[in-house]
Amino acid sequence: MIPAVLPTYARAPLHFVKGEGSWLLEEDGRRFLDLGSGIAVTALGHAHPALVAALTEQAQKLWHVSNLYEIPQQQALAEKLVAASFADTVFFTNSGTESCELAVKMARKYWYEKGQPEKTDILTFSGSFHGRSSAAIAASGAEKMVKGFAPLLPGFVHLPFGDMAALEAAITDTTGAVLVEPIQGEGGIRALSDAQLQQLRALCDERHLLLILDEVQCGMGRTGRLFAHEWAGITPDIMMVAKGIGGGFPLGAVLATEEAASGMVLGTHGSTYGGNPLGCAVGCAMLDALTAEGFLPDMNRRAALLRQKLEGLVAEHPAIFEEVRGQGFLLGLKVRVAPGDFVKAGYEALLITVPAADNVVRLLPPLTLSEEEIAEALARLEATATALEAAA
Ligand SMILES: *Cc1c(COP(=O)(O)O)cnc(C)c1O
Repeated sequence: MIPAVLPTYARAPLHFVKGEGSWLLEEDGRRFLDLGSGIAVTALGHAHPALVAALTEQAQKLWHVSNLYEIPQQQALAEKLVAASFADTVFFTNSGTESCELAVKMARKYWYEKGQPEKTDILTFSGSFHGRSSAAIAASGAEKMVKGFAPLLPGFVHLPFGDMAALEAAITDTTGAVLVEPIQGEGGIRALSDAQLQQLRALCDERHLLLILDEVQCGMGRTGRLFAHEWAGITPDIMMVAKGIGGGFPLGAVLATEEAASGMVLGTHGSTYGGNPLGCAVGCAMLDALTAEGFLPDMNRRAALLRQKLEGLVAEHPAIFEEVRGQGFLLGLKVRVAPGDFVKAGYEALLITVPAADNVVRLLPPLTLSEEEIAEALARLEATATALEAAA
């Protein structure tokens, strides 16, 4: 008999009932250190007082009104995002995959309105993940996501990740945009270098393509800058955001320049919940926290400490670890065991980590992870590695 919950997930037998900062409490009383953050979502940890206050205050006043009316919280969050980024305008969604849908529509509508409706193709990369909706799986093209779901949305050209020569060679008269994660998350914490991102930006300018960055996982402070592309000193034309922006409340956004957004006029897109007062009240509190003076510099200091300790861990357990990679609190441990086995062994040490492709275990702690918690994380990672060595 089919389970009451559609069985599309492989779930660990853990039942968390409460979250406090970097910690998750299991029903049976065990306290887990959470280096997963619900996959880069709970950026300020669990039950952060500023987010709880924003949500509960708004919940007392007004949960929902339609986008038929002005929504002041939405206006405020859009203004904060515009002030803090390259963008001139923002559309709110409820998830990363919805942001992907709009990014694709926006790029195609742009060229349509420019009188070049043939420029519908979007170049994407192997190992990418943009969500599970029809446009997002077609964009990724990965066998495990698209198999059985044909016919797929056409117009995506898949290229080897980081192969700039292949990218340049793939541009034709029908190419309209490039869609890429500056650092792949699900793909295994694989980063484009600053030089590659700069080259990509230059290529898009030269060949008249829109650059769409998917910062759903790497954005919102996770790499130590508000957005990951800032490290390379470039800006996109369109950017997808979700995960961390709501800190656990479902919220996403598409940020764009005025030019790139110029085709999205009255009536061309919409969402019932997107930009709802509850989500945007939380989003405002999140953005205020991340942009508060000293927050990201302090996070970068703690991230450097974690990185240094992880390098030591990798050196001490060469049978288990190959390398540590990533930036800020978007980290990957490339392991020599099955990542799923490592994550499972971590549960025994009361530690939450997240598997990814390319034999990587992700560490995505809350951006608030303290120095004492970093020491605790290392002790638990060490115990996990030691247990796996003993079992080998
Ligand atoms: C998680 C993720 C998505 C999809 O977000 P959902 O909210 O699950 O739809 C898209 N892109 C990237 C890079 C992601 O990590």
